[in-house]
Amino acid sequence: MRAVKAVQQHYTPGSEILQMLEQFRQMLNDCVRIGLAENVSSLKSLSTKAYNQLATYDVMSYYKLCAISKATGILKNYRKAKRQGMRVKEPYARQLQLTTCYGFKIKTIEKALSLPFKPKQPLSIPLNAHVLRVLSEPNIQVCSVTLTDQQLSISYAKEVEPIQPHGLIAIDRNLDNLTVADSDGQMGRRNLAKATEVKAMYREIRSHMRRNDLRIRQRVTGKYGRKEREKVKRILHHASKQIVLDAKRREFGIVMEKLTGIRKLYRKGNWQGRGYRGRMNAWSFTELQRQIEYKARWQGIPVIYVNPSGTSVKCSICGSRMKPEENRQLKCRSCGFTVDRDVNAARNILARGVRFAPFASASEAMVQEPQRKVILKVDADELTKSAS
Ligand SMILES: [Zn+2]
Repeated sequence: MRAVKAVQQHYTPGSEILQMLEQFRQMLNDCVRIGLAENVSSLKSLSTKAYNQLATYDVMSYYKLCAISKATGILKNYRKAKRQGMRVKEPYARQLQLTTCYGFKIKTIEKALSLPFKPKQPLSIPLNAHVLRVLSEPNIQVCSVTLTDQQLSISYAKEVEPIQPHGLIAIDRNLDNLTVADSDGQMGRRNLAKATEVKAMYREIRSHMRRNDLRIRQRVTGKYGRKEREKVKRILHHASKQIVLDAKRREFGIVMEKLTGIRKLYRKGNWQGRGYRGRMNAWSFTELQRQIEYKARWQGIPVIYVNPSGTSVKCSICGSRMKPEENRQLKCRSCGFTVDRDVNAARNILARGVRFAPFASASEAMVQEPQRKVILKVDADELTKSAS
């Protein structure tokens, strides 16, 4: 299994790099326009149609190939969205962003990234200690470099041996916490209220900005939005790291809900409005999953996604509908089981994960109906807890 990760750092681009970024943006838009006009979207046919037309650009051919390849991806997404009946504008790149998979070098001794610019005249960007340390990990292969006018990101990959999990950890993400239930019957909760506090703080700052100049306001809110995301990201990184470390230590797989829509976010208390706050919450939900997924893959830990429908309202013992009680408790209308709503959701996610991926298929002891055995064990533990 191939796992991919990326490492980022800030940098200040010189005039040559800014010029390259701008040229890349123009080439990308040219390729997209050609692809739309000629109705092609495969890499091969777009290369044939577009490569010669990029001759007017005085850039190394590496970047032309990368612009074509990136345009192919953009065209594919655009066509897919259109096929699904979504109303989408014709794609046009405004941001300065350049991705290259060829020609660059990581110079460890010079502590720099060397980028092709003119023949035999590469450009050099200093790399910080963190990036150099990450890239010195054994057995990794550097794949690509992405530059914007503020940040550089280097992606790298390695082959990992997938582990045969001895159990599963299910994760239920909520606005203020992360509740886990595992196939050994353990429950846990990780507090994420700090992330909510950060969001609330920035919301407060924004609400005090009453500037008439829309442009200044957008710039300021943009800046706070970025800082806020970085802070929340750090909190989420801490949580995702702990979860993956735990899964690795115990050789367990991870189960999460498929967050295809935003239905889950409508659960009471999770989603307040469709405005900025709602978008921020939606973003932090998917960001946590993204982090867990790539960190887990890097360790060879399987990640399973299950259908989220009903996980928050169905009884994790009998499957009947639950009735909300005080203090975030739910009570089953049918079997009377009373449980914390997040624990109940985590247990439902776990049960679905076990059904989709009987984790112990490799070990003989568990071959017979592994799923029932596990669910019963969890239930028994929880029942004694709620009874006492
Ligand atoms: Zn029940």
